[in-house]
Amino acid sequence: MKEKVHMQDGTMPDANSRGWQPFLMEHGLQKEAKLNAQCKGFKCAPGATSCCCHCVLYNQLDFKTKKSLLEKACKARGFHAMFRPKFHCKLNFLEQCWGTSKHIYCMNPVSSKEEDLKHNIIAGLDSISLNVMQKYVFIIILKINLVSNAFT
Ligand SMILES: [Zn+2]
Repeated sequence: MKEKVHMQDGTMPDANSRGWQPFLMEHGLQKEAKLNAQCKGFKCAPGATSCCCHCVLYNQLDFKTKKSLLEKACKARGFHAMFRPKFHCKLNFLEQCWGTSKHIYCMNPVSSKEEDLKHNIIAGLDSISLNVMQKYVFIIILKINLVSNAFT
């Protein structure tokens, strides 16, 4: 699934402008372009929509409603794509399963035969039982609770 996407022509109103400001000014948001580029650590106040350039841009309707190529490809094939929040891989259930599967795959003898590779891939994927998945979910919930409690 490869699709070329050409960027639209843009203009830089001021050669000295940097960051988000030129894009906001291009869209007629001169007042907002004077805000800070982003809140400290990209942690805007809950519900804020115009505290910083990042937040203003993120809340623009055309930005929010833009579908990714993956979403478009899934929809065209009749699938509904679900996107999970971006967390560290150690807090992502699928990454944990995938990591274990790759580990099992790598423990097999090296081979260049397609049949062996296919067998090893399937063995790696099959090694993730429902019980293992449940353990990963439990561990991730524990980690999230530990971190959450550390900041309260
Ligand atoms: Zn902000």
